[in-house]
Amino acid sequence: MKKIIKNSIKCNLCGDIIVSKHTHDFVSCKCGRCSVDGGNSYLRRSYTNSMDDFTELSEFEEVEETKENKDISKRIPNTIT
Ligand SMILES: [Zn+2]
Repeated sequence: MKKIIKNSIKCNLCGDIIVSKHTHDFVSCKCGRCSVDGGNSYLRRSYTNSMDDFTELSEFEEVEETKENKDISKRIPNTIT
């Protein structure tokens, strides 16, 4: 499972690097062609022409054990002795 640790893009038109830090943190670059939103919850991109307008700079973290997994493993009794 991938967790977003940085929600960021670089605009290829003005060179501005923008980062969305919170869920409703909508940030546009200097020229206004690209925007990011969603913070560390989801990745939302806005662009004027195509995805070539920006370079993806987001960083992810591989999370092996989710809260759900932990809860399931607690419920399964350990039968290996
Ligand atoms: Zn721009």
